[in-house]
Amino acid sequence: MTDLINPATGTVFTSVPSLGLEETDAAIERAHRAFGMWRRVAPGERAELLRRFAAMVDTHVDELADLEVRNSGHTISNARWEAGNVRNVLDYYAGAPERLSGRQIPVGGGIDVTFHEPLGVVGVIVPWNFPMPIAAWGFAPALAAGNTVVLKPAELTPLTAIRLAELAREAGLPPDVFTVLPGKGSVVGQRFVTNPAVRKVCFTGSTAVGKSIMSGCAEQVKRVTLELGGKSANIVFADADLERAAAAAPASVFDNAGQDCCARSRLLIQESVYDRFLTLLQPAVQEFRVEDPSLPSAEMGPLISADQRATVASYVCDADVAFAGHAPAGDGWWFPPTVLLAHSTEDRHWREEVFGPVLSVLPFRDEAEAIRLANDTEYGLSGSIWTRDLGQALRVSQAVETGTLSVNSHSSVRYWTPFGGVKQSGLGRELGPDALLSFTDVKNVFISTDC
Ligand code: NDP
Repeated sequence: MTDLINPATGTVFTSVPSLGLEETDAAIERAHRAFGMWRRVAPGERAELLRRFAAMVDTHVDELADLEVRNSGHTISNARWEAGNVRNVLDYYAGAPERLSGRQIPVGGGIDVTFHEPLGVVGVIVPWNFPMPIAAWGFAPALAAGNTVVLKPAELTPLTAIRLAELAREAGLPPDVFTVLPGKGSVVGQRFVTNPAVRKVCFTGSTAVGKSIMSGCAEQVKRVTLELGGKSANIVFADADLERAAAAAPASVFDNAGQDCCARSRLLIQESVYDRFLTLLQPAVQEFRVEDPSLPSAEMGPLISADQRATVASYVCDADVAFAGHAPAGDGWWFPPTVLLAHSTEDRHWREEVFGPVLSVLPFRDEAEAIRLANDTEYGLSGSIWTRDLGQALRVSQAVETGTLSVNSHSSVRYWTPFGGVKQSGLGRELGPDALLSFTDVKNVFISTDC
């Protein structure tokens, strides 16, 4: 059994089973057998089952959100959005089964057609930072394409995934089509990599574990999608609407207590407005509401664990703190929003993913230097550009090496647009129209008309 701790209080509130190798293999075997049935469910019927699953999630948004507040320390407003996102992702991919059409390609002597065939059992490995959305971004398109799914939630945050699997059954999904397997990454997750019946692994988490999963999957030429770390830049040019950019900056990095692979944790400010921008930023940081995450007014809750808090603190202890916000004292894994001045691009807090409410700031001279500094990282997941100059916005958007960018905003994720990273931030795309086909293989069939 694994004890679960409420991050806002530091107390154990429940425990869940931790599955071993034999139970994992048995579940994969059942999912493999169910695949033969699920792939043959008529597209319209599969679509209807996914719509019912979405409707079931919709009527349980508040229950799922409350679970996430307790298990993960997410603010209640974020947790409601996250449960709603699961519903929306299911609804979106419920439109896919009847539209997953192949092609007819002209050839001599017959007919040539292609099919998008499901892969088989898909293993989804989910981290603790966004337990609900990241699970749905894997299981919804995988199921829509006709695969069965085994899903391993993070040991720290399994409750919403376990509940989602129950809701899927209540909505009418057949047994073993979508199975949640709580347990250790080194046991359950690793078995998704080594068990040959799992034909694809979708992994979200640290770059180090992602690399080991990719090399493990290579042994069986198993497909992988990887969503890994980030160290995204928020570039503020002198001509930007500075008031708006400063007001928006805190949420872009402190949302979910900074435990977000898209966090804009490197702030690049053009030197001619550097002092003025920091003057605007300071009150926005200090007013960021860090409090009991179950309060509707909360903008940030605690970190996920004592370990994560110690990791985050290790980045701040030797750094030059410009200013910090507030956090509750006492029990729970609290850490205040903190702004650090970087003195060199070699500063550890500037280079490494902190995964906490820490923003590093550096000035730049001109467009060329902003691009060079933004790209001076092994990561490439997200980012933002603030300018009123359309030409500059387009030039910098094209030059910054990243998978997702926003101009004069910080939006990263819409369920109907693609999401994913370049460089060491990942491989493949989730969400939007692109994700579906990555859960299929193309089969080409030639039918002779000569006999
Ligand atoms: P991990 O990469 O260790 O964990 C992510 C998921 O992978 C968890 O479900 C974990 O299981 C599982 N896992 C761990 N090891 C293996 C393995 N060998 N084979 C298969 N699955 C495995 O991330 P951490 O939770 O340790 O976080 C460490 C750092 O990673 C963070 O501080 C942050 O920098 C980064 N991170 C990035 C995320 C992102 O969204 N890109 C998400 C989470 C973390 P288990 O439950 O046992 O840990």
